[in-house]
Amino acid sequence: MSWEANVRRVIPYTPGEQPGQQDIIKLNTNENPYPPPPGVMEAIRGIGAERYCLYPDPDAGRLRQALADYHGLKKEQVFVGVGSDDVLALAFLTFFHSGRPIFFPDITYSFYDVWADLYGIPYETKPLRDDLTIAVSDYRGGSGGIIFPNPNAPTGILMDSAEVEAMIRDNADVVVIVDEAYIDFSGDKKSALSLLERYDNLLVVRTFSKSRSLAGLRIGYALGGEKLIGYLQDVKFSFNSYTMNLPSLMAGEASIRDDVYFREALEKVIRTREWTKEKLQDLGFVCTDSRSNFLFASHKRVAAAELFTALKQAGIYVRYFSRPRIDNYLRISIGTQAQMERLIAYLQEYMDHN
Ligand code: PMP
Repeated sequence: MSWEANVRRVIPYTPGEQPGQQDIIKLNTNENPYPPPPGVMEAIRGIGAERYCLYPDPDAGRLRQALADYHGLKKEQVFVGVGSDDVLALAFLTFFHSGRPIFFPDITYSFYDVWADLYGIPYETKPLRDDLTIAVSDYRGGSGGIIFPNPNAPTGILMDSAEVEAMIRDNADVVVIVDEAYIDFSGDKKSALSLLERYDNLLVVRTFSKSRSLAGLRIGYALGGEKLIGYLQDVKFSFNSYTMNLPSLMAGEASIRDDVYFREALEKVIRTREWTKEKLQDLGFVCTDSRSNFLFASHKRVAAAELFTALKQAGIYVRYFSRPRIDNYLRISIGTQAQMERLIAYLQEYMDHN
């Protein structure tokens, strides 16, 4: 028998391209086009060389406390990881252990099925409605856990707060993970965080990669009841004590401290999103009601696959998913206003000549 018979074989998640060229317009991985606040760079520069010889704080205490203070919670309700992908991967491992299938939407973040396959967690996908919204009633009872992003990806559509609550309340016997990677672009008060007081089966996952302009440092976190977070901590410490490196810990804390800069950058992205959406609609695109830092757009006449290729040749990278139901959409991250003006100018030209 070959050694290969004993290998864990998986089909990995495919991240968006990170091309080397500098002269492209990169609208394919929902990064923030604005730099992080100056305090973040100062915090990193301020780390003395002697500190790099030592392990970082395995408890990530200062960053967790800063996040707890920011959200009005206790440090014991905060978990941090290497981007929300790390947090989500550990949450799958910790909470989806019943043997019953976990439920998530058929069109959603395409890492969920990869983690489920990796860990051997059975799953059932629940089809979005024709208007690409999540049908909450499909998730009631019988699952081994539930996960969905709010707003959903790649549609950008936000589920209203009452429906989010129903999802958590109706499934109190399992952990419900709300992946809020994009929630900061949805306006205040749309988060499930206010439900933490009432539901101990809720885990809210967040990231510094989008709204906080720190995709390069890999910082994600989860908020939940103390008991839930305690279980997650136990699994993390059974896997890797030092997930968070020193610059990430320092930068994360500095980011949280500059709320004024944070809100200004958010406002800019939201304003540009609405501007771009209007221009795309004028050009014959249909867009979902995205409350994130990307648009999900389909042209009435020109196929998305064709546009994707043409845009790439022109040095404008967007994301295209060749999957049933969404294979005529482009997912376009929101860049700076100037970048979006170049995108619109290119599409205008294209539509005039094709
Ligand atoms: N959740 C969703 C819905 C996402 O789109 C992404 C970004 N790919 C992530 C989680 C992971 O982001 P990160 O690991 O950078 O925090």
